[in-house]
Amino acid sequence: QLHLLVEDMKGNIRVIVRQRPMLQNERRPTQAVGVQSVEDIRLGEETVTLVGNAGDEKALSFYKVLGPQARQSHVYNYVEGVIRSVLDGYNVCLLCYGQTGSGKTYTILGEEDSLRRGMGGESEAESSISGLGIVPRALRHIYQHVALAVTPCALSPTRDGERGMGGQVRRERERERGTRTGGVRIELAIVELYCNHLIDLTDDTKGGRERDLKIRQTPDGGTYVEGLTWVHCPTYTQCVAQVEKGLAKRHIASTRANSVSSRSHTIIYLSVKRVQVKNGVERETTALCTFVDLAGSERISRSRSSGQRLQEAQFINSSLSALGDCIHALSRQGISSQKGSRVDRSVSDRTDRPKEFIPFRNSRLTMLLKPCLHNNSKTVLFACLSPHRECMSETTSTLGFASRVR
Ligand code: ADP
Ligand code: MG
Repeated sequence: QLHLLVEDMKGNIRVIVRQRPMLQNERRPTQAVGVQSVEDIRLGEETVTLVGNAGDEKALSFYKVLGPQARQSHVYNYVEGVIRSVLDGYNVCLLCYGQTGSGKTYTILGEEDSLRRGMGGESEAESSISGLGIVPRALRHIYQHVALAVTPCALSPTRDGERGMGGQVRRERERERGTRTGGVRIELAIVELYCNHLIDLTDDTKGGRERDLKIRQTPDGGTYVEGLTWVHCPTYTQCVAQVEKGLAKRHIASTRANSVSSRSHTIIYLSVKRVQVKNGVERETTALCTFVDLAGSERISRSRSSGQRLQEAQFINSSLSALGDCIHALSRQGISSQKGSRVDRSVSDRTDRPKEFIPFRNSRLTMLLKPCLHNNSKTVLFACLSPHRECMSETTSTLGFASRVR
């Protein structure tokens, strides 16, 4: 009970720190490079203590701190409740932040090839899917729930401006006798943002990758990607196959252009449109669930970079700092207003203007994430850490980012 209370008081943004284990080929004594102001870090349950080289200590607290022994299923336990709320009409955003090699992709998507192996679906033994990351687990969870609780029915395709409306009820009307009793429509889209170039990864048409997509505003202040390909996925298996297909396109691009994927942001959007009937009144909600594998946060030396690398570095620095600014402002707003964001209440809350200015317009990344970060949303940021001594300054910088947005 107390635990829940504390959870609510932190607003709608949670930060989970995850340090990955040493990999097999890494197990050798390593040394810190150069002068480091932080000598060591100690992981607690909800704190990370930075130990300075003068023996000074500074403790940072987070929603949860997970060490190298944390399994994928264990990690999922901490976001399961947030994922479930998508079905109640909340917008949800899960992001992985950290330097290249810190475990972002492993956390959000899973071990390489685990998607394919886990595709067998609901009945698959846990041992064969233990490497699965958050996205496939979340999809499994959502589709299982839908199968149990909702009568499937054909809903019309969701229009661009409707996505991310979250719990705001789009349509309320007397239920017509004898028509549908409820239903859900799940659509998927994947984009890659590389040096401000926005690429549609769900577009199968020839030349689809070459298009630079535009981000548009809706009259009520939301944003959407114009002309983005949304794929209707009636089943879990179809959805996972689409995710795999979209990400494979990113992979092809990355080998051709020299591991671009660690220098681009990948965003997986899941739009969940739902019709529920309560007391004879039909209510339609469209919630957006967004999974983000961010570009590596490591600082790239500007003095030694030029051309494409410099452009990439500038793009990553500016987009990540814009993201930090937005989440920081949102977390302050969440704490100051403490607005309930239940579906039913959000209708009367609609006229409330945010008290804090959120600088979404400062980068295309934050424009893309706006629908699932602003009103009626829940955000989980994973701060991924490498256990390496050499990485201490990047680790410290990731913890700095994470403690700022908390
Ligand atoms: P990033 O996406 O941040 O660049 P990756 O997710 O690709 O990093 O992880 C780097 C390597 O570490 C990969 O080989 C991955 O399988 C491995 N790895 C990351 N996190 C874990 C973990 N928690 N347990 C085991 N291996 C991990
Ligand atoms: Mg990665």
